[in-house]
Amino acid sequence: MSTILLEQVTIKGEKKDVLIKGNIIAEIGDLKNIKADRTINCNGKWLLPGFVNMHTHSSMTLMRGISEDSPLQEWLNKIWDIEEHIDGEMIYWGAKLAILEMIKSGTTCFLDMYWIIPQIYRAVEEMGIRADLTYVLLDNFDREKAARQIKECESLYERSREWNQRCRYGVAIHADYTVCEDTMRWAGSFTKDRGLVLHTHISETLKENLEDKKRYGMTPVQHFESLGLLDKNTVAAHCVWVDENDIEILGKRGVNVVHNINSNLKLASGYKFKYNELRDAGANVCLGTDGAASSNNLDMIETMKTVAMAQKAWREDPKAMPISELMEMASHNGAVALNMNAGIIREGALADLILIDTHSPFFVPDFNFEANLVFSANSSCVETVICDGNIIMEGRKVVGEDEILEKANEIAWKLSKIN
Ligand SMILES: [Zn+2]
Repeated sequence: MSTILLEQVTIKGEKKDVLIKGNIIAEIGDLKNIKADRTINCNGKWLLPGFVNMHTHSSMTLMRGISEDSPLQEWLNKIWDIEEHIDGEMIYWGAKLAILEMIKSGTTCFLDMYWIIPQIYRAVEEMGIRADLTYVLLDNFDREKAARQIKECESLYERSREWNQRCRYGVAIHADYTVCEDTMRWAGSFTKDRGLVLHTHISETLKENLEDKKRYGMTPVQHFESLGLLDKNTVAAHCVWVDENDIEILGKRGVNVVHNINSNLKLASGYKFKYNELRDAGANVCLGTDGAASSNNLDMIETMKTVAMAQKAWREDPKAMPISELMEMASHNGAVALNMNAGIIREGALADLILIDTHSPFFVPDFNFEANLVFSANSSCVETVICDGNIIMEGRKVVGEDEILEKANEIAWKLSKIN
């Protein structure tokens, strides 16, 4: 079993040694006499758990900047048009680009919603990151399409049983305005029976919320609840438009609610996310970026900053978003949602860790590391990334990055010209 020793690394203001054995944090303390296969001098470096990006559509990196200044529906139509033509090779390079960006900005695990999953898996496997990949059901109320997707979803699940343990399979319902109730119910029982994550978009826009009230006589949250789809294995992206009753349901069911502030702000979907209310009700609030076609990046440090700014601004309260809770939302809460022993620096947890280089103007003076990280620095301070006990970025270098940038750009241009 290979070992890595992080020598004199700063954890919450205190210098300690950290020994990684295999994929686990084996020991934390004064480990001067221990010999490891690899010793890293961590002078001037802080150790943090890697970020867990709880809502992505990884291959959408290929559509970064392709439809700017458009409202959600117009933007979606443009994206769906392009997605009609996307093939496995495109998905693969889009995912590689997404993973490269995530590693470079300190993310060690992501929850994805897309299709042509085997190609995304190939990218995850090669690049050493951790991921839950959810197959997206989107039948547009067409029974034949639904049957085809269900069949594919089942067969991909069978294939996923041979996957590397870093990667797990799950199912996604795109949203209740694009998927029929029978398919939604099927997804609920399929995931429940197998202990898989059920990933979905809920109440992203006011329009969606009002249409559900007209169509079903209830809000999107109440609609999901009425179909028995909300529990601790459900990950609900957005939930921007929720009323008191919705919050009570999400809390009671312990749903994992993902706030994707940059996507919501940019598509003008809404920004008055009810963080305090959801937390107090018992929901597990996590952070995500959404796909790069809307957000336009996958940067969790930037996400934390915008979340804090928006909460403070709309509530007119500087105390609205305590930084310690923000840090938990960006890593530990995501790990809890995905049922992983990660997102925390403690003996026995998975070695999904990042080293932050504080030797830069952003971190001087060093009164408050977390405030410097979120409000002053940017993701260029992420110096080294360890995932599953393997170093996947060191000194900001990722193996094969030049080829990924070149290929992804070439393929994105090709895709843009198909229409
Ligand atoms: Zn999304």
